[in-house]
Amino acid sequence: MRRQILPACFLFGGNGEKSIAHRIDGLSLFGIYCVGIHALRSGVKEQSIFRENNMSGYLYETHMHTSPASGCSDTKGREYIPRYIDAGYSGMIITDHFFHGNTGIDRSLPWREFVNGFCAGYEDALNEGIKRNFPVFFGWEETFQGDDYLVYGLDKQWLLDHPEVIRYSRKEQYEQVKAAGGCVVQAHPFREAHYIPAINLCPELADGIEIFNAGNEMKWNSLAFRWAGLLDLPVTAGSDNHHANRMCPENLAGVVLDHPLKCIQDYVKVIKERQPIGLRIPVPVPEWTVELQPNLPAVWYDGEEKPTGIRVMDSLLRGEIVTDGQPEG
Ligand SMILES: [Zn+2]
Ligand SMILES: [Zn+2]
Repeated sequence: MRRQILPACFLFGGNGEKSIAHRIDGLSLFGIYCVGIHALRSGVKEQSIFRENNMSGYLYETHMHTSPASGCSDTKGREYIPRYIDAGYSGMIITDHFFHGNTGIDRSLPWREFVNGFCAGYEDALNEGIKRNFPVFFGWEETFQGDDYLVYGLDKQWLLDHPEVIRYSRKEQYEQVKAAGGCVVQAHPFREAHYIPAINLCPELADGIEIFNAGNEMKWNSLAFRWAGLLDLPVTAGSDNHHANRMCPENLAGVVLDHPLKCIQDYVKVIKERQPIGLRIPVPVPEWTVELQPNLPAVWYDGEEKPTGIRVMDSLLRGEIVTDGQPEG
């Protein structure tokens, strides 16, 4: 199923708990533009990007929410299917807010019932997807202290078998997900919102970084592009879609692959094996400049979840890692 990728003019998307729709006016049309051109300028390392600036491929949504599993979505899984088909996508991954995020499922339910409720949006989408020959895959988005992680490659049975998942630290999440054959992508790392106390960066506990999120302000995406240039990790894009009735085909983000995904494990492989990933970015991301400072403190953690002492702003400024012991840049 090779689909045409459409040009882009503006975007809507979920914005944290509030899921506000944005409109960005006055933009020229972009379609997919390959990270190869744009992100290199912003610093993203060459090995993690799609090299060919072609306009075709297999386009996948990597970040989206359904109701009632996500408290901030109003859309049943099935409602997305015709819209993503029309938008030219080859498939989608449902990533509802998990236990410590804005889940719409009662956390006091017995574990099995919680998991059943949590997976219902995905299953609803899957059933409709089967009818229409549109692939739907399962993932979730878990929240720590305002930092969010997309988990791919595990399934409902794994959740049922691992009720301790709700007590995981970031490190345990990363280790356990990897041990079970999945992967972790840190979502929208520079987002700022009322529920986010600080920008917590944990690249050592992730297999990839979502550098473009269509629910983000472009400033936050610009920061993420610049930051990813300091890392050696694959980069992804997603819409963070919460509302089928407000979505416009031209506003969506996603990843563009050179082969179709037969199962979610195929996507895990793309990330873990650092296969080429094109990003569908519907609007231009402003090139990062020093004026694009975050309003929140940014803390860079190590693989033990301890602050590294890396000075985030100085590192972004210099384009190289600057630690506490080094003189001011
Ligand atoms: Zn949400
Ligand atoms: Zn999300």
